[in-house]
Amino acid sequence: MCPERWSDPEAVSTAAAVLGSRARIDAPLGALTTSRVGGPAAVAFEANGPADLQVVRTAGEASGLDIIVIGRGSNLLVADSGFEGIALFLGEAYGEVEIDQTDATVTAGAAVALPVLARQCASAGIGGLEWAVGVPGSVGGAVRMNAGGHGSDMASCLLDADIADLNGGDAPPPAVNHRVDSLALGYRRSGLADSDVVLRARLRGHPTSPEVAMDRIAEIVRWRRENQPGGQNAGSVFMNPPSDSAGAQIDQAGLRGLRMGSAEVSRVHANFIVSDPGGTAADVVALMDEIRRRVHEHSGVVLQPEVRMVGFEGSPTPA
Ligand SMILES: Cc1cc2nc3c(=O)[nH]c(=O)nc-3n(C[C@H](O)[C@H](O)[C@H](O)COP(=O)(O)OP(=O)(O)OC[C@H]3O[C@@H](n4cnc5c(N)ncnc54)[C@H](O)[C@@H]3O)c2cc1C
Repeated sequence: MCPERWSDPEAVSTAAAVLGSRARIDAPLGALTTSRVGGPAAVAFEANGPADLQVVRTAGEASGLDIIVIGRGSNLLVADSGFEGIALFLGEAYGEVEIDQTDATVTAGAAVALPVLARQCASAGIGGLEWAVGVPGSVGGAVRMNAGGHGSDMASCLLDADIADLNGGDAPPPAVNHRVDSLALGYRRSGLADSDVVLRARLRGHPTSPEVAMDRIAEIVRWRRENQPGGQNAGSVFMNPPSDSAGAQIDQAGLRGLRMGSAEVSRVHANFIVSDPGGTAADVVALMDEIRRRVHEHSGVVLQPEVRMVGFEGSPTPA
């Protein structure tokens, strides 16, 4: 019953057997990302509590397969051959938002979409999180990536996060509360290990009028529409080098509009790669390699990927 596309079908079957009837074998993964390229996950599972996390951990240990937690797939590039591991999705149990008006804080489950969080806070008169409306990720993915924009980021708003470690142990992994200063958040990175799963985050805002906050949201949405492409993409492909923005580097090397197969450097924003419907991850990777080569040739700058590569050699989640 286990597809022979995987190099170790026995490991895949073992993981699926431990996970039980809710495991999905050969489940769509690349198709669920915002790039909509790339293949399936060998096994996918949705967790809705500590017992589920424990079973995922056991499945990983029993099979030897890697586990990767998937948020909204807005910063992932999945290989065309797929991911021979366990893709962990967080379900409704991690989808709640609680706003505390008394101290302008909000507690959000890791599965909550940032734009939803930003709008809910704004309409409740909590300011300071408007920037998140432009980032199509989840709260969990945003903590790991220290997502940000429009002059702010997760590091500036986060108070603390509940994190479970899927490494070792027989009991359900406890959700340990970590203060923001222990998470080593830096520019589009954190000190989280691959086995760390963010479950909840508590964020600080400030009291404001809903009208002011919603106006700011509308302004950010307008700016995004005018300055970033739509379609199939994973946002900024490369991190900004210390000297300049990655987009400016790519532009100066004359690469706007450069195409390799189904992947094109966006004509709207040069740090975005847009894929054609039915496109491949291989074309995106080939274009990334070509951009890096030509930017280095042009300015000596070595661009580093911001997007997380999944299922490629040396992955699942290299920074
Ligand atoms: C159009 C567009 C615009 C974008 N603009 C911005 C921007 O302005 N600023 C910015 O910072 N980013 C931007 N991004 C990138 C992306 O939205 C962010 O990096 C976001 O934080 C990723 O969240 P996600 O839930 O989609 O994570 P995913 O893409 O699903 O995963 C990214 C990484 O986070 C990990 N992860 C996901 N959930 C969890 C969890 N619960 N616990 C632990 N690890 C987890 C994954 O394992 C993976 O390593 C943009 C993307 C797009 C498509």
